[in-house]
Amino acid sequence: MRYFVLSDIHANLEALDAVLAVVEPSLYDRIVCLGDLVGYGANPNEVVDRIRALEPAVIIRGNHDKVASGLETAKDFNPIARLAARWTRDHLTPHNQTYLAELPPGPRLVDDLVEVCHGTPYDEDAYLFGEDDGLLALATARRPLCLFGHTHVPLVLRMAPGGLSLDHLGGDDNPHTVSLESDGRCLVNPGSVGQPRDGDPRAAYAIVDTETRTVALFRQQYRIDEAQRKIFTAGLPAVLAQRLGVGR
Ligand code: ZN
Repeated sequence: MRYFVLSDIHANLEALDAVLAVVEPSLYDRIVCLGDLVGYGANPNEVVDRIRALEPAVIIRGNHDKVASGLETAKDFNPIARLAARWTRDHLTPHNQTYLAELPPGPRLVDDLVEVCHGTPYDEDAYLFGEDDGLLALATARRPLCLFGHTHVPLVLRMAPGGLSLDHLGGDDNPHTVSLESDGRCLVNPGSVGQPRDGDPRAAYAIVDTETRTVALFRQQYRIDEAQRKIFTAGLPAVLAQRLGVGR
């Protein structure tokens, strides 16, 4: 089984369409989406429409999906995210708001090898950056491979003989391929489609192959200028456009 993994699209239609243009249906069997379809970008309805049409095999909600659909308030958001969430909520169609509100929380089991969550397997809204969170997440995960998003930073965590290893995937490998050992557990963040924060502004996504037990992490160029123009035109905070240009 090959899973096409999309996370943190954040209403960036240009990034999503660029990724969908290169990942043809012959390259995967099922789609898995780790949440945060909306928030920050200028095309929430178009992105939700695309994802609905693709009929993901597994999809979970992100924190922005909860706020944009009215399930939660934006009290935990910073002022910029709060403004964007309010704009998104005002612009989502009722149909798409309902779709987002009904997305299930993570973690969810995908098959015998894979599970997914938005933040961590122990808390859908927690951020997994460092060793302590990583150890707790590895201990809580119920499958050998746990895919997560939320931080917008591609990352591979696994237990190594000397302790936890954190691989931040620098360098020019595209794709960067991760092999899963027959024993042991691995946590992989594919990075963000629509708002990368690792200093590489290209859209990020992954393909998991359960036969070869590999995760391939890809980066894809897209029309950042067009996504930025739409953010300005929409009246969303300008910093949201600027950060797309630097991938931070
Ligand atoms: Zn996000």
